[in-house]
Amino acid sequence: MRDANSNSWEARAEEYSLYGFTDLPSIHQRGTVVVTHGEGPYIFDTRGRKYLDANSGLWNMVAGFDHPGLIQAAQDQYARFPGYHAFFGRMSDQTVMLSEKLVEVSPFESGKVFYTNSGSEANDTMVKILWFLHGAEGKPQKRKILTRWNAYHGVTAVSASMTGKPYNSVFGLPLPGFIHLTCPHYWRFGAEGETEEQFTARLAAELEATIIKEGADTIAGFFAEPVMGAGGVIPPSKGYFQAIAPILKKYDIPLIADEVICGFGRTGNTWGSQTYDFMPDAIISSKNLTAGFFPMGAVILGPELSTRVQNAVEAIEEFPHGFTASGHPVGCAIALKAIDVVMNEGLAENVQRLAPRLEAGLAQIAQNPNIGELRGVGFMWALEAVKDRATKTPFDSALSVSERIANTCTDLGLICRPLGQSIVLCPPFILTEGQMDEMLEKLDAALKKVFAEVA
Ligand SMILES: *Cc1c(COP(=O)(O)O)cnc(C)c1O
Repeated sequence: MRDANSNSWEARAEEYSLYGFTDLPSIHQRGTVVVTHGEGPYIFDTRGRKYLDANSGLWNMVAGFDHPGLIQAAQDQYARFPGYHAFFGRMSDQTVMLSEKLVEVSPFESGKVFYTNSGSEANDTMVKILWFLHGAEGKPQKRKILTRWNAYHGVTAVSASMTGKPYNSVFGLPLPGFIHLTCPHYWRFGAEGETEEQFTARLAAELEATIIKEGADTIAGFFAEPVMGAGGVIPPSKGYFQAIAPILKKYDIPLIADEVICGFGRTGNTWGSQTYDFMPDAIISSKNLTAGFFPMGAVILGPELSTRVQNAVEAIEEFPHGFTASGHPVGCAIALKAIDVVMNEGLAENVQRLAPRLEAGLAQIAQNPNIGELRGVGFMWALEAVKDRATKTPFDSALSVSERIANTCTDLGLICRPLGQSIVLCPPFILTEGQMDEMLEKLDAALKKVFAEVA
């Protein structure tokens, strides 16, 4: 399996690369898949093997790996003006056009946009905007950040503190002042005998009790993914956002929707906040924003925050924040094209049209007694493996069940991701019915093989 030759691609990868978010025992045993190119939703490795990437790269390559229009947009902009910044009163024409477009396609009537190079930096930037704003409005102590357990908001020191995952303890994170509330996953965290409505009400009560205990004047903002992505594809419990939004409003705590995964069509609407019917005060975008063709993130402030932040900046004459590549003209040109491709070239419609078919296919597979829950929406789904469906008892973690499923899928030519005891499927928006069938058949075969080994 693993190519031990010291000149092999995989040996060279291991010699010189520090791997992030990678299970090293799997690498030591199986070697690294070194990828050279892609075609539609498929990728190819240095050994010529072909894989259907059911994870769209890392959720982001929604238009596939060789979209001609996106490649052309990048080439054209590189030829026209290959790089610039957005400091000192200068910015590229592409940047102007993208901000206009983002506000136009946002749920906001008006707004303002700030650019970063990643989703982590966009969350980091949003926290700094809130700290700056509350300080300028005479509330310098309004600094604590509320998120949920299992949330994923990124990896910088601040966004990792917002992320609600135990692995951040190896960095001594979270920083003080980052508070994690209960994850709104009813199947896993609902109490014995509790209805979904009661569960939602309990989480809303927890939020209000936390605000009262900490003091509303110490809380800068509440961040939430409409559907939790890297936490395991967790849609909110019924009525969740309708229950929490009024509480946040009552205590003057901005609600920030981290739409890095959900934004631009993943849930079947342009925004996840539309799918779950709530109006955030600001939106964080990245990943799909450029269909993965350029590293870029954006903070989109809604009308009220735009006005308040602008007033606060006017008072001190300058907002002292920005990245060298904020609003990069090539990234902006690609994002403009990506938005057009997703919204106007049938990709968003394809998600809407095929989501029921995907759900039905997965529901069929989920009849396997070792699948405890199928959950998701649109083109983002997870199947959670369990040892015992009735008691929801997970497999012994030493069995690495989800890793084994993902590795077996890889052997069959299908890329999907293990997450806890779940397997995540978030295919590109260009997926055809035939490719969906290929994905479902390979997944089913891998599940049957692994469950036969461990059950
Ligand atoms: C991926 C992700 C981020 C972080 O984005 P990076 O570009 O990896 O820094 C933030 N929030 C959510 C919801 C994400 O899925």
